Amino acid sequence: MKKKERLLVVSNRLPVSLSTEDGKLIGRPASGGLVNALSPVLKNKGGFWIGWAGTHENVSLSTLREILGPVSEESGYRLLPVMLTKEDVDSFYSGFSNSVLWPLFHDLQSRCDFNPSYWNGYLAANRKFAKVLMKHTEEDDFIWVNDYHLIPLGKMLHEKKASLKASFFLHIPFPSVDIFMKMPQRKEILSQLIHYAFVGFQTMRDRRNFLDCLKVFFPEMHASGRGNVVRVRIGECNFLVGALPISIDYRSFAFLASSKEVVSRSKDIQREMFAQKYILGVDRLDYSKGIPERLRGFQRCLELYPELREKLSLMQVVVPSRESVGEYLDLKQEIELLISRINGEYSTMRWVPVHWRYGSVPRAELAALYRGAEMALVTSLKDGMNLVCKEYCACKGDGKGVLVLSEFAGAAIQLAKGALLVNPYDVDAVAAAIAEGFTMDDHEKKRRMRLLRKSIARHDVFRWVDDFLRASVGKKLAEFPEEEIPPLWPGLRPDGEK
Ligand code: UDP
Repeated sequence: MKKKERLLVVSNRLPVSLSTEDGKLIGRPASGGLVNALSPVLKNKGGFWIGWAGTHENVSLSTLREILGPVSEESGYRLLPVMLTKEDVDSFYSGFSNSVLWPLFHDLQSRCDFNPSYWNGYLAANRKFAKVLMKHTEEDDFIWVNDYHLIPLGKMLHEKKASLKASFFLHIPFPSVDIFMKMPQRKEILSQLIHYAFVGFQTMRDRRNFLDCLKVFFPEMHASGRGNVVRVRIGECNFLVGALPISIDYRSFAFLASSKEVVSRSKDIQREMFAQKYILGVDRLDYSKGIPERLRGFQRCLELYPELREKLSLMQVVVPSRESVGEYLDLKQEIELLISRINGEYSTMRWVPVHWRYGSVPRAELAALYRGAEMALVTSLKDGMNLVCKEYCACKGDGKGVLVLSEFAGAAIQLAKGALLVNPYDVDAVAAAIAEGFTMDDHEKKRRMRLLRKSIARHDVFRWVDDFLRASVGKKLAEFPEEEIPPLWPGLRPDGEK
């Protein structure tokens, strides 16, 4: 059988953020977990990244192409936009993706809005993705579909052309049967997933949940094999299901954090805070990240362990996210209120307990924040993986840092030996873990951090990519040939010259 040659990555958003400056729309490479993980995959592989450009304003396709051309050059892969209308975005993105699938798959069913109209919008937007893909894909392409927004895409492609079999990775958790059963479109979602050639999950637990759900709806299902990847047969559908935890570019974080500039900046950050020692939280504004729970845990810590007052601050970075979804704005207000209450109660003339920034942070500044932090506090109520905790460890080259990690983050399975694991709903446990981390001796801190760093370095993002490609197409990344970026449309080079 001829091996697939080009890589086509599909995700809801293109790895570019658009903004208007001086009345002009401009695009810049975006950041975030998925982008950081997948950018190196496509670089110079002659591949495409297909996704929504993040705007439904009246931007013509040619303007968008003009903007995306230079970003494509910079990133080393071609960006292909899918155009979505405001109605699409409302029902597909804000609606079914982020008001049904996201909360339900994070076990937060009380936050779901099962509005029946969202489903048709979800399918309609996926059909638009399928149309763009069909226009650009060739027989031997390897199509890699990412995340919960695009579950129906594999089946849609397969229906258009039977030989097209895409692979899929779910970056968020997959819930247990009890929770999954609450979704009105439960059978449709499963029927779509089984049309991929490979379905990848972050952890064994997610994979087990998925297989349990399949058993309910397809009792004839047959699973065979052992280890990370198993084969499943359901009627005509014959596919692989794997558990492959995503990771970070460990070396680049470690390298950045040991640079002269970052070391010096991390010392400045410590000096800027009276307490000098700080706990760090870095999260998108999202209720699944447990930011209010973390603040309550820190508040409880100051209450139960008064000796820590004036010695430790919490630095919380909140990256704006999904501002079009109402729940997210309420969350911001809740966080602001909690912070002002804690600071109102415990601040002294020379010490502020909680510092926070609302906005994104450049990578070097983030590395400095990680490096300078006494502790990282990750209290996700549920998380597919959580890359922040891995980045923190990669940046703690001096070994003197403590990771307090939620039991409900996918990363907890890999990092259980070195981290202090907590139940984020248990404020006393969070408070006790902070106090334990603060009083831990340097020898124990270093021992734990060594374990964490070793595990993350060994399972970095390149290994994840190779594992995914090997499991789905039988090739490692290095076996995909290096290529120039292909022209945006036939006859026209990316720079616009004929
Ligand atoms: N991050 C970012 N901008 C920031 C702060 C953080 O892009 O201002 C990145 C961070 O480096 C990490 C990602 O956002 O790679 C967050 O990934 P995680 O898996 O922790 O959570 P997600 O937001 O994907 O749910």
